[in-house]
Amino acid sequence: MQLNILTLIYLIGSVTFIIGLKMLSNPATARRGNLVAAAGMGLAIIGTIFLYEDEAGQKLGNYGWIFGGLIVGGIIGTLAAKKVKMTAMPEMVSLFNGMGGACAALISIVEFDHWVHTAGWTLYPPLSGLGFDDAPDFGTGHLLIIVLGLIIGSVSFAGSVIAWGKLNGKVKDFAFKGQHIFNILLLLVIVALATYLVGWMPANSQLVFYILFALSLLYGVFFVFPIGGADMPVVISLLNSFTGVAAACGGFLYDNKVMLTGGILVGAAGTLLTILMCKAMNRSLANVLIGSFGGGAAAKGGGTKEQGSYKEITLSDAAVVMSYANKVFIVPGYGLAVAQAQHACHELEKLLESKGVDVKYAIHPVAGRMPGHMNVLLAEADVPYDKLLEMEQANDEFATTDVVLVLGANDVVNPAAKTDPSSPIYGMPILDVELAKTCIVNKRSMKPGYAGIENDLFFQPKTSMLFGDAKKVLQDLISEIKNL
Ligand code: NDP
Repeated sequence: MQLNILTLIYLIGSVTFIIGLKMLSNPATARRGNLVAAAGMGLAIIGTIFLYEDEAGQKLGNYGWIFGGLIVGGIIGTLAAKKVKMTAMPEMVSLFNGMGGACAALISIVEFDHWVHTAGWTLYPPLSGLGFDDAPDFGTGHLLIIVLGLIIGSVSFAGSVIAWGKLNGKVKDFAFKGQHIFNILLLLVIVALATYLVGWMPANSQLVFYILFALSLLYGVFFVFPIGGADMPVVISLLNSFTGVAAACGGFLYDNKVMLTGGILVGAAGTLLTILMCKAMNRSLANVLIGSFGGGAAAKGGGTKEQGSYKEITLSDAAVVMSYANKVFIVPGYGLAVAQAQHACHELEKLLESKGVDVKYAIHPVAGRMPGHMNVLLAEADVPYDKLLEMEQANDEFATTDVVLVLGANDVVNPAAKTDPSSPIYGMPILDVELAKTCIVNKRSMKPGYAGIENDLFFQPKTSMLFGDAKKVLQDLISEIKNL
């Protein structure tokens, strides 16, 4: 009877994950979707703690450890989520994702120990040959799942920690000649060792298992190290899908349906997001993984050539140009998030609309520092969703636009992506803001954006620079327009 209640709880948990995920696809319902899925997960955890019984009718026990962990983890998670700045969200996502990978790897380590004992082997046997004779004739599938969970979870953990370090600047890009070949060889060694362990179950299995563990951690580090900074979102999304698969392995091991469903959903969602982001940059996943975009190549490509001169626009001129326009597009970028200028931006939009100007936003899929960053930011300021146009729609409209106001965006409006084959962002679809009659670019200086490259847009005849912190500039623009 209890088991049935638990099964029902797992079913409810699984359904809430699916509903939550569906709700996440729309900014209007995303927050509630998150809560729905979290409630389902909470229910599944509580249900497991109190209702789970093994075949011998034994309850979980260890309540002190379990609740100690829950309380400590809950406090750390809550504080981290409350304190994190919007601009540091990708780092936190990466770190949390790494913790998921670590959990999956730890489950595999515990379950391997369990498996060894079940198989009746001695712990840490000396290097006693290959020991094929000792191989038990059961548990291959079980061992395969344990080993998969270990490898994928460890790669995800180590890779996510490096991605976290790279995003917050603590870890610098690092690559050596022939690193991609080294990575491939390392991966082949891991696959060979895993096959040996699962296929032959040698007597020195424990040694092989822990070598696999170490090599998987090493692979995670070397896998992410050479990837350029601007490709971190794709890598994080990919690692996220790894964590999902590793968690699903845990679900298989424990025959736990809710863990399995959750893992598969995370794995599938992460994979889809990875594909979508690659598409948004017009690059293949292989190119992302070996392209060093935004890393060393960025510094070399297109970043140092002479660009000519740029012109500036005064606040009052900008106010006049925008007030008398028919159609204005706002292009938000990472700088808008840094300045926390979303509310001022919405105020400007309402003010211009009250003057009969048609105002819309053009959202690039990788603007900011995380997928959906601009949508989240503008939703926080209650900007109506129908005003947010995706890149393709916006590109169709720029030619009939009077003014484009670029707010703290840089790479996503860099025409080098279309015109300069030597540029590291060549091939990435961008917002074609140069098609509009006038383009006003707000940023604080002429410094490059995330990819570390100069932007030809700033030097084009139709472009004027409006320097300053985005929030301050917007507030001043609003007062200027009000005084017109
Ligand atoms: P960029 O990083 O290319 O440019 C942002 C610009 O904002 C900078 O040039 C900076 O110039 C300016 N800026 C910074 N602070 C302020 C401020 N307070 N007020 C005004 N301007 C400011 O941003 P984009 O959004 O154009 O492009 C995103 C980049 O980040 C892409 O290369 C993308 O691949 C990468 N990325 C995207 C992620 C995602 O998932 N969306 C995650 C990680 C990376 P200045 O210093 O002169 O002010």
